[in-house]
Amino acid sequence: MTDEIDPTCYKCNSIQFCTVGRASKMLDNCPMKISPEIYKEAREIYKNDEFIKKSTNVASIVEAQGYIRWPRLKDTVEYAKGMGFKKLGLVFCVGLLKEAERVAEILKKYGFKVVGVCCKTGSFKKADMGVPEEYIMMSKTGYRIGWITCNPVCQALLLNKAKTDMNIICGLCVGHDITFTQLSKAPVTTLIAKDRSAPHNPAAALYSHYGNEFFTIDIQESRKNKKKASKQ
Ligand code: SF4
Repeated sequence: MTDEIDPTCYKCNSIQFCTVGRASKMLDNCPMKISPEIYKEAREIYKNDEFIKKSTNVASIVEAQGYIRWPRLKDTVEYAKGMGFKKLGLVFCVGLLKEAERVAEILKKYGFKVVGVCCKTGSFKKADMGVPEEYIMMSKTGYRIGWITCNPVCQALLLNKAKTDMNIICGLCVGHDITFTQLSKAPVTTLIAKDRSAPHNPAAALYSHYGNEFFTIDIQESRKNKKKASKQ
């Protein structure tokens, strides 16, 4: 498949076509034009898969009920209630222990049973997992601060064992969140997307001058490095 055939909705100026069904000029590669079979398949899934039907409807109801007013944690609570979930799993980064504690406390007050697993569970050493020595983080004083690996596999297996109805990610690293989601038997939602550079708000980098500067410089450097590597 070429780039022209794959969807690029992020470039679309005719977004009203799909958002409100108003006729307007579509992108040549609008998936609604190119892949009608996918929309047909999706309708069948919504009709025949009981979990997907219920989950999609509950999510839309929660969106309408709390639109703009509710924090995401309240959306999460109402979604879980709407789905009839009773036992929730919380997987959190050790750096967000305080936040996880507060989230668990709030969820319990809403009547849920809460199971929680920290990312460092198991104390597996990064060196034993094949992480190269130079990536086992040291502080500026030489004190080794990151020699235990995050352990999303154990987090998922422990919550699978606890038979949670839904699992909530509270600040897992990029990639560790993927491993966790892949192995979790219960459906997974993200409450906090970790971003140490901007108090766990990844969108912040898109709104500020400093975010723009960071990516301008970083992209220039990565192009330079690519050029250098191709000459070697
Ligand atoms: S689905 Fe089509 S109309 Fe909607 S954003 Fe994508 S390209 Fe635009």
